[in-house]
Amino acid sequence: MWEPSVADTPPTSGNSPDFDAIVVGAGPAGSAAAIELARSGRSVVLVERGPFPGSKNMYGGVVYGRILDTLVPRWWTEAPIQRWVTRRQTMMMTGEQALTVDYRTEAWGRPPFNGATAYRPDFDSWLADKAVQAGATLVCSTTVTGLIRSGGRVVGVRTDRPDGDLRAPVVVAADGVNSFLAKEAGLYGEVDPANYTVGVKETIALPRHVIDERFAVRGDHGVDIEIIGATGDVPGGGFIYTNTDTVSIGLVLSMPALARSDKRPEELLARLKAHPAVRP
Ligand SMILES: Cc1cc2nc3c(=O)[nH]c(=O)nc-3n(C[C@H](O)[C@H](O)[C@H](O)COP(=O)(O)OP(=O)(O)OC[C@H]3O[C@@H](n4cnc5c(N)ncnc54)[C@H](O)[C@@H]3O)c2cc1C
Repeated sequence: MWEPSVADTPPTSGNSPDFDAIVVGAGPAGSAAAIELARSGRSVVLVERGPFPGSKNMYGGVVYGRILDTLVPRWWTEAPIQRWVTRRQTMMMTGEQALTVDYRTEAWGRPPFNGATAYRPDFDSWLADKAVQAGATLVCSTTVTGLIRSGGRVVGVRTDRPDGDLRAPVVVAADGVNSFLAKEAGLYGEVDPANYTVGVKETIALPRHVIDERFAVRGDHGVDIEIIGATGDVPGGGFIYTNTDTVSIGLVLSMPALARSDKRPEELLARLKAHPAVRP
């Protein structure tokens, strides 16, 4: 049995189980599963295709804390956050107009904190490290390429490493929303593109004091703006989040409607950035 650690190569031992559980994907779901399994005394390996957890992951940028309360008590004392969201806006816009509901509270800037902006490479690495601290083995730069079955059961996974098969009675497919492992296992059928959106995001560097002035926040407080009507004829929404010294701005767009439109996502994002309520 391997010592709990960050491993360079996946451990293998013929046909007998190497671990009690294999978790595929060190995103938030995979790391959460690995933390719980390791804490309950199970041997667990967390396999990530990227060179480190979060290296391939992107999203808008706000982490909401309540689920973390049970997973990592007092997470706010150590999580790698950019700014605490103390101001939240819902903006409804047409081509030239905007109406905004603006809510702010200092309470969200104190424990237990409501939400925070974060970068996924920082956040995912931190959460995966919690799994390692709990006793999980983290193996990066390793892609799971398929399932190993025996007698109708899944008994392990194949990886892209030579002799890199891993065996365990339980495999957790935390390889993202398009989980090809869940599809291979027959647990996830054909997906309907109508239920999917595509996200685009730009992260713009600005000095910290400029962000403080433009968004009317101070210290480590920040803003989360959700935007309705930012996507023209394509159903979807927009967002703007403040990080410490960058601003994230992006769109989430219905895939079939985007395909039908003659527009590219970056054109719609450029239009949002040029909107009179956003440009300043
Ligand atoms: C544009 C956009 C904006 C978003 N904004 C927010 C937001 O502001 N706040 C929020 O809470 N959520 C947001 N989300 C949603 C959030 O990103 C997801 O809910 C979250 O990432 C899902 O976590 P996960 O662990 O299930 O999957 P993922 O984060 O996708 O992680 C899957 C992991 O598995 C790894 N992996 C995949 N295949 C393999 C394989 N074969 N072998 C090994 N490793 C593999 C990947 O490298 C990755 O690390 C946003 C999503 C998008 C697209």
